[in-house]
Amino acid sequence: MSDIYDLIIVGAGITGSALFYISSRYSDLKNVLLLEKYSDISTLNSSSRSNSQTLHFGDVETNYSYEKAKDVKQSAEYILNYTGIKNGRYNKHIIQKCQKMVLGVGDMESQQLENTYASKMHTLFPGLKKLRSKELERIEPNLVKGRQKDEALLALLSNNGYMVDFGALSKSFANNGKKKKDYKIKFNSKVKKISRENDNYVLETNDGVYKARFVVFASGIYSLYFAKSMGYDKNISILPVGGGYYYSKKVLNGKVYRVQQGNIPFAAIHADPDIKDPNVTRYGPTVILGPLLEKGHLDTAFDNLKIFDLDIDTLISLKNILFNRDIYRIMSKNAIYPIPIVGKYNFLKNEAQKIVPKLKYSDLWTVKNTGGIRPQIINEKTHSLILGEAKLKEEHLIFNITPSPGASSCIGSALEDIKYITSQLDRNFNYALFKKELGS
Ligand SMILES: Cc1cc2nc3c(=O)[nH]c(=O)nc-3n(C[C@H](O)[C@H](O)[C@H](O)COP(=O)(O)OP(=O)(O)OC[C@H]3O[C@@H](n4cnc5c(N)ncnc54)[C@H](O)[C@@H]3O)c2cc1C
Repeated sequence: MSDIYDLIIVGAGITGSALFYISSRYSDLKNVLLLEKYSDISTLNSSSRSNSQTLHFGDVETNYSYEKAKDVKQSAEYILNYTGIKNGRYNKHIIQKCQKMVLGVGDMESQQLENTYASKMHTLFPGLKKLRSKELERIEPNLVKGRQKDEALLALLSNNGYMVDFGALSKSFANNGKKKKDYKIKFNSKVKKISRENDNYVLETNDGVYKARFVVFASGIYSLYFAKSMGYDKNISILPVGGGYYYSKKVLNGKVYRVQQGNIPFAAIHADPDIKDPNVTRYGPTVILGPLLEKGHLDTAFDNLKIFDLDIDTLISLKNILFNRDIYRIMSKNAIYPIPIVGKYNFLKNEAQKIVPKLKYSDLWTVKNTGGIRPQIINEKTHSLILGEAKLKEEHLIFNITPSPGASSCIGSALEDIKYITSQLDRNFNYALFKKELGS
């Protein structure tokens, strides 16, 4: 075996694991290495504790454009096909079907949902069903109990509801990818530096030096860190948005999303079942700005400083974003939620009771270390936040930065990557087989 890999993927979350599998199954790349700095697959954002476990389809996300919803839907279909849930041969620890809806409370939100239904959703998601109070009460009684009789309620019920343990899905990708000879995974191998040596890239890690013809960073926020270290993309910065979840005993039958306020990239606080525990309902994620790039890893705060170019464009962007009326309102409300007693009380009143009016203070509890870090991407040219993921392609390099719905988009992202990699390296990707096995 040559000591120069065709491809090294840095980061074994769902993005890196999906690419590892797609490359193994559908390309003729040889010598592929997946490097992970921690001791297991998906210990950060892709773990089931860190995210809302929603397979995003674009149907209940009222802030998505038609195009965004169409893309997300396609990627979600790939996951349905990979997991086999459509034909009944699936692993319930990875994916389960569940009820999913978006709820509008009051006249304004109900009207917004009417508009959404009438426009993009109707053609893209013909299975969406409008539910008014009476039907809603039958399907999800705790959404209706305890409300004022004259409060307007409208929900759009999706027929595409699935909860996914993206950590378990990552492990399935990694294990299936490894089945091919010369596809290897190395844990506890932290990439510290990347440099160029003739036509190859040299990765320095704590356990040695690795060389590759092509490198993909699937390293969460650290993808941008490495892009910047190589002098690429000065027009992007990251706002690391942390946050967590509150829990109650199970009071809902499925996922309840809420109407998005303003044109904001983070989802309004919603309620979800937990694929790991059928006895609870989760509420969140909260939206807390913080210095950490990875939840629970204090040392990552220092690296944050290296990603931020403190120039005039960054400052204007920050001013625009943080003083945007909707963002400011959400951030200031959420800043209180982690505070003991007062935080829980405010969360109950502002968020949880909007979904389940009869919830009481004593019904809610928190679980430590839930909720990851969303790398909300700042476009420093437009001085605004970008909705969704970013992918930077430079020579034989790709840098993936993946806020929500990054986990749902993992196969779509891997498809784009593998097409680019094989074309750049003059190798083959078997699209016909991909379409036959995963296409819709
Ligand atoms: C609160 C919250 C809720 C969300 N809800 C949803 C949802 O419901 N549905 C959905 O689709 N998406 C959701 N998302 C988004 C989704 O979780 C992420 O898009 C996805 O997990 C990102 O996967 P990733 O593999 O790119 O990154 P990660 O899972 O963060 O993995 C990155 C990996 O790179 C490794 N790494 C980093 N640096 C190095 C280095 N130097 N050397 C080696 N390895 C390195 C890390 O250790 C890590 O394993 C949510 C996110 C959050 C935070």
